[in-house]
Amino acid sequence: PARPKYSGQLPAGLQTISNIVAVSSCKGGVGKSTVAVNLAYTLADMGARVGVFDADVYGPSLPTMVSPENRLLEMNPEKKTIIPTEYLGVKLVSFGFAGQGRAIMRGPMVSGVIDQLLTTTEWGELDYLVIDMPPGTGDIQLTLCQVVPLTAAVIVTTPQKLAFIDVAKGVRMFSKLKVPCVAVVENMCHFDADGKRYYPFGRGSGSQVVQQFGIPHLFDLPIRPTLSASGDSGMPEVVADPRGEVSKTFQDLGICI
Ligand code: ADP
Repeated sequence: PARPKYSGQLPAGLQTISNIVAVSSCKGGVGKSTVAVNLAYTLADMGARVGVFDADVYGPSLPTMVSPENRLLEMNPEKKTIIPTEYLGVKLVSFGFAGQGRAIMRGPMVSGVIDQLLTTTEWGELDYLVIDMPPGTGDIQLTLCQVVPLTAAVIVTTPQKLAFIDVAKGVRMFSKLKVPCVAVVENMCHFDADGKRYYPFGRGSGSQVVQQFGIPHLFDLPIRPTLSASGDSGMPEVVADPRGEVSKTFQDLGICI
C-alpha cells in the first residue's frame, strides 16, 4: 500500500505540524464540514494550536462557517508561500478564500490545487491540522491521503443503513493507507420533540459498522436548528454554546483524536 509521498521529506509547510486529522465522508451534505470546523474549534478551546484546511475545492464551506476579518489568503511574495487567514485563533485555508469563483476543474487539476494550497502554506507550529476532505473515496481523496501523512481519520455519516455501505468504503481507503480511523460520527441521529426522542433514520447501523471494523469510538450528533444556523452565521456551535450538548460531544471527540 502507498505510504505518504512525503514521508521523510515533508514539504516545509507541513514540517511544523504535529498531527494531521482527516474528516471524511462518502457523500456530500452529511455534516462533514460542520464536524471538521467544530472539532477544530474544540481542540483550540482545549489549548491546542489548530489549523483547518478545507480541501473541498468544488464546494468550499469554510468561508460560510467562520467569519475571519480577512477573507482573502495573502501571499508572501518572496517565499511564494500562502499565509493562512485566521478566526478566533484558528488558522484557515480554503479555496473559497483564494478569491476565485467556484471551480470547474478536472480531477488532476483539483489534486494540484489542493497539493499547492496545502503544502505551500505557512502553517507555522500547529498541534493539529484538521482537513475537511472532499466527499467520497475517489482519486482526489486518495491523492490527498498520499500527499499528506495523516495521523488519524474521522468519518462522518448519517444513520441510514445505506450510508454505512459508503462508510465501509471510507474505512477501507484509510486502512489501505494505514491511517487509523479513530471515530465515526453519526450526524443527524435524533431530535427531541414533545418530551420524546425521535430517530427519523433508524438506529443501530453505526454500532454495527464500528464493531465490524474495530473503530474505537462512535459519536452521535442530534438534528439541531442551532447547528445549521451557526454554520450559516459564521460562528461554530461550539463557540456559540460552549457548554451545550453538542460541545460536550465534540470535547469527547477531541479527547480521542
Ligand atoms: P458536508 O460537509 O458533509 O457537505 P455540511 O457540514 O456542509 O455537510 O452540512 C450540510 C448542511 O447541513 C449545512 O447547512 C449544515 O449547517 C447542516 N447541518 C449539518 N449537521 C447538522 C445537524 N446535526 N443539525 C442540523 N443541521 C445540520
